[in-house]
Amino acid sequence: MNTEGIIWAVLFVLMLFICVTLHELGHALAAKRYHIQTKDITLLPIGGVARLEKMPEKPGQELIVALAGPAVNVVIALLLYMFLNLTRLSTDISVITHINAGNFLISLAIINLWLALFNLIPAFPMDGGRVLRALLSFRFSRVLATQIAARIAQWLAILFVFAGFFYNPFLIFIGLFVFLGATVETEQVQILSAIKDHIVEAITMKEVPTLNRKDTIEKAVELLLNSQAKNFLIMDGKKLFGTLGTDEIIKALKEHTKDTAVEVAANTDPPSIESDEPLENALLLLQRDKQSMLLVKKQGQLYGIIDHENILEYIMIINASAAKQQ
Ligand code: ZN
Repeated sequence: MNTEGIIWAVLFVLMLFICVTLHELGHALAAKRYHIQTKDITLLPIGGVARLEKMPEKPGQELIVALAGPAVNVVIALLLYMFLNLTRLSTDISVITHINAGNFLISLAIINLWLALFNLIPAFPMDGGRVLRALLSFRFSRVLATQIAARIAQWLAILFVFAGFFYNPFLIFIGLFVFLGATVETEQVQILSAIKDHIVEAITMKEVPTLNRKDTIEKAVELLLNSQAKNFLIMDGKKLFGTLGTDEIIKALKEHTKDTAVEVAANTDPPSIESDEPLENALLLLQRDKQSMLLVKKQGQLYGIIDHENILEYIMIINASAAKQQ
């Protein structure tokens, strides 16, 4: 490849990244219509991920949000095609061997169509998997719809891996990606449905060990090792100063000396939730912000805390008693 060829190739990859970003923006904009914010957009080798603060649960909304991404690529392809037609430039793709000035735009149009098609493969975590789940949700419960969609995704994944051995090793990679995505999706939906009608108050820990903000990190470590406690409230006299979780203690040990006061490691702006809110909200908040705990408030007053482990234990209990009843 000559220098000019390399420049066109680099430019093409760059444009491809822009198109993938626009695809993700499509999802983000559609989600915004339903008042769901997007945390960030990550570009991966096989596409992008728009991290929404939550997935829309209404099937119609999920359908629109899932389709919005591929729709962007279709629109880009159509616009490019129309432009090429209007300007009477070549749309002949049979002669493309490598990207150059003559076939740059038509190649970009084609790859956008491929992006749309690839993303519409009906397998989690591809957009097509969500489309499938949304369509199934019109008939079945969300959990059942997810289970059916995930099962289909897993069979497709096995097919991909199998085909990968004969055709293109890249398919093996996609197969594994789809398989993992389907598994994660099923687990998440099962968890959310298990706690559906439960509220935060049910598992709020009311007895939370406290530390004074001037206490040392060493004291926090001692409490951590000698008791069941994993989370602490850091007090300033009688007032709450902040919270301190295991992760923050470990981090503080790496960054400070043992006799440093815990106040430097405390989270002074901990997130909180009302005690009568659905437990689901607490779980989503913990997962989304990667928090070690949430403060639970009851009518504005501090009521206790709730953490991830707590919720998982509760789910195990719910599942165990549900299994017994069957
Ligand atoms: Zn997408």
